[in-house]
Parts: sequence; structure tokens; C-alpha cells
Amino acid sequence: MTRPRGLAAARSVSEHSRRGGERQDPFSELARYSKLFYDRGWMPGTSGNLSIKIKSKPLTIAITPSSVDKGEVAAGDILVVSISKVVRGKKGLRPSAETSIHEALYESFPDCGAVFHVHTVHSTLVATRCASKGVVAFAGLEMLKGFETLSPKAPAKIPVLDNIDDLKEFGENVRRNKERLSKVPAFLIAHHGMTCWGKNGQEAEKNLELMEFLCRYAWEAQ
Ligand SMILES: [Zn+2]
Repeated sequence: MTRPRGLAAARSVSEHSRRGGERQDPFSELARYSKLFYDRGWMPGTSGNLSIKIKSKPLTIAITPSSVDKGEVAAGDILVVSISKVVRGKKGLRPSAETSIHEALYESFPDCGAVFHVHTVHSTLVATRCASKGVVAFAGLEMLKGFETLSPKAPAKIPVLDNIDDLKEFGENVRRNKERLSKVPAFLIAHHGMTCWGKNGQEAEKNLELMEFLCRYAWEAQ
């Protein structure tokens, strides 16, 4: 494994992994999740992007590269972006075009330690069906207990955000929707896919799995 070099913060474990009692570096962790989600069919055709926060001040994140087969991302391919500027990256690689969306989530939610964006078939189907309403609601399902931020038995109202081509503007739209996004750490993107987050990679992965179950259930129940 190629271990990224040149940034003291990046050599250490991420803040939130450390708090969670785990000692994984964010680069190998992101490479592992990228392969895992690719193998599940959630990141086809180089799509999707994953990040883990390295530190809050200044906001510094490790993020997957753009236009790279997500089944073949190595730890050394992961870039480090600090306040929207690449501070570490292999020559020829660019950070995800959706970095602005990740940054908006980390800035809006201080406890957020990992943001995962994938293109699953069922999240895209449900996001497209509910695009005009701007929300999809789930209620009474045992699986909702998996969202720690949700009150027991409360319905989960997941925002369906517009698929805005201008990604800086998309990031601004995330900030504008902060209140709606504070209930459940997930949103769908119309005609596009879904984004989930958590205090660390493990929690963001769990939230993706819950959302994928809910979207598949919603689609197949119709
Ligand atoms: Zn996408």
C-alpha cells in the first residue's frame, strides 16, 4: 500500500475515527469503502465520491479522485483538500467534482466525519419519482430505528434535492437546506442518486445501507 506523504494531519488517523476508538488512516479506509461500494454496484462507471474529514480547522478532507474506476482506487490515489484547495494528490488526479457538496455538509454539521455519495438504482428510482415533491417519507418501518438522530416511531422525511449542474451552487443549496437535512443524515438527488453521512466512515456506511433498504422497499411496495 502506498501511504500518502507530506501532510502531518493526513498521516494521522482522522479525528472522528480516533474518537470512535478505531485507528484507521482515512486513505486506506476510503480505498476500502470505494471497492466495497463498487462491488455492490453502487459506484458504476467511475461515478460516486467518498470523503473522510481529517480536521475541522481549517476544514481538511481526504476524498476520492474524479474519473477513476472506483473498484481500483488505491490509498495513494486519495487526495487531500483543505478549504477547497488540493494540498496533496498524485499527479494527474483531480478531486471529485462534487467536493463542494462534501465541504458544505462538513461545515453545516460539525459532528459529520464522513460523507459518502453513491448511485444506486433504487435511490435513483425513488429520487426521480419524488423529485417534484422534494421529499420522500418513510414511516413505521423497523429499519428506521437505525437512524440515531430520529425519534422512535417518528417518520423519516428525506429531502430530495434538485440535481444542480453548477456544483458550487449545489453546495450552497445544501447549506440553505441545513434545517431539513438535520433530521436524518441523508438526502436523495433527483434523477441522480443519494448522499449519506455520519460521524465516521462506519456510520456513513450504515446510513447508506439503511437508505438503500428504504428506497428498495419504497419502490417495490408500489
Ligand atoms: Zn453523483
